[in-house]
Amino acid sequence: MDPIALSELIPDFQKKGAPLEASVSGDEILYLTETGKFALPFTPPPMRNHGNWLVSLNKLVKWLGGMVEERGINLFCGFSGREVIYEGERVAGVITGDKGIDKNGQPKGNHEPGIEIRAKVTVFGEGPYGSLAQDLIKKLKLCEGKNPQSYATGVKEIWEIPPGRIKKGHVIHTMGYPLGNDTFGGGFIYAFSETLLSLGLVVALDYKDPYGDPHGEFQRFKQHPVVASLLKEGKMVRYGAKTIPEGGYFAIPRLFFDGGLLVGDSAGFVNVPRLKGIHYAIKSGILAAETVLDSLVKGDSSAASLSPYAGKVEESFIGKDLHKMRFFKNSFSSGFLSGFFKVGLQYAMGGWWPGGMPRAEADHQAMRSLAAYYRNGARKPQEKKYDGTLTFNKVSDVYLSGTKHEENQPCHLVVLDRDLCVNRCTREYGNPCRHFCPAQVYEWMKEEEKGAGKLVIQPSNCVHCKTCEIKDPYGNILWVTPEGGGGPEYTGM
Ligand code: SF4
Repeated sequence: MDPIALSELIPDFQKKGAPLEASVSGDEILYLTETGKFALPFTPPPMRNHGNWLVSLNKLVKWLGGMVEERGINLFCGFSGREVIYEGERVAGVITGDKGIDKNGQPKGNHEPGIEIRAKVTVFGEGPYGSLAQDLIKKLKLCEGKNPQSYATGVKEIWEIPPGRIKKGHVIHTMGYPLGNDTFGGGFIYAFSETLLSLGLVVALDYKDPYGDPHGEFQRFKQHPVVASLLKEGKMVRYGAKTIPEGGYFAIPRLFFDGGLLVGDSAGFVNVPRLKGIHYAIKSGILAAETVLDSLVKGDSSAASLSPYAGKVEESFIGKDLHKMRFFKNSFSSGFLSGFFKVGLQYAMGGWWPGGMPRAEADHQAMRSLAAYYRNGARKPQEKKYDGTLTFNKVSDVYLSGTKHEENQPCHLVVLDRDLCVNRCTREYGNPCRHFCPAQVYEWMKEEEKGAGKLVIQPSNCVHCKTCEIKDPYGNILWVTPEGGGGPEYTGM
């Protein structure tokens, strides 16, 4: 975490006991080949971490939540925000999800209907690909004239390791293996202490391979000698996965509308080269609060009254950083190595690149059919073997994510057209949901007699990453909020 925004919000955050794991003590960027590594001779300035902190976002958010409650503000944990209240084009609040509905949609004995929470201004900060934010973006056409947002899936584990291998606060970022030249992404290893590592792999979801599997790639990442030697005789203690918005400056939606604002990852505020967004989430929250206060004082919460928020974001370090890096992600569209070269040139030219706003397609459009990707005939997906010590299958990982859902509730993963899965997707893409979901929620069961198969969904495994709705090539999956309180624990993540 870059502390710039937290220090603005709470200048004495260290004295007040913010849960900081370590200050960054050193930085490395490695290019990994299949068995070797090359260290970059220097860390490019935007990727330097001197002065930054390693934090567990889960702990930081809990700590901030406690401070908010001390000031008499109500936090309604354990409730999902299910639906936006619209009055015409105006946003008037949010309806929370019902509790106690059974899997057939019938009320159970403990049924509690959702409640309407009405507000003059509603600020949406649901993280990446929030269900309500997506609804707002579509209904109010907030992305008109912008690129569609693009995402990556980050798969992460926390490990306890023997001492003496890495210094507390050390940061390693990797490029190259296990991702090919046509897949954007990289690995990270953060030493929370000499014996506690947070590590993961981020894979951009504009990959083409219908068998693409971010969880499987992360397991391969851990087998690389650089990583395996750190983890040897260690113990994996926690797992999680989440999408990250990566579209940058050209994919930022309109941030204001009648009665509301977008902040944080819901607005696409992530600095991709720095792999950082916490400081943008905090800063956009500060700017949203200032704007809301002004609008309440004026007694006017129309889009016009809330529009100064967009200017404040643009003039803040959020807008300046993202503008400087506006061509970053697109530079990698024709391969990782050429992208790295282009980004170096852009940096030297202050972020400029010829041609104006590059066009981008939505991530689900990037996937190629089996016939197109495997031109010499449809390859079978590689059988993956995991040893349960260094590498883990998805179900074992889900167990360590602490994911829990009420079993008797409607499935929160809605497949809009099941016939499409059988009649087209099997043939065209080989049912890629089985591969891109990092939690083995989607399984394909063969029905021998009929010679076909059927999709079986295990919603209780879902770690709420949102990859499926983003990457399904037909847009055939809808992620709706499950009963409030369900989902992964994120403890220490
Ligand atoms: S079902 Fe979808 S949201 Fe849930 S873990 Fe799988 S890909 Fe992620």
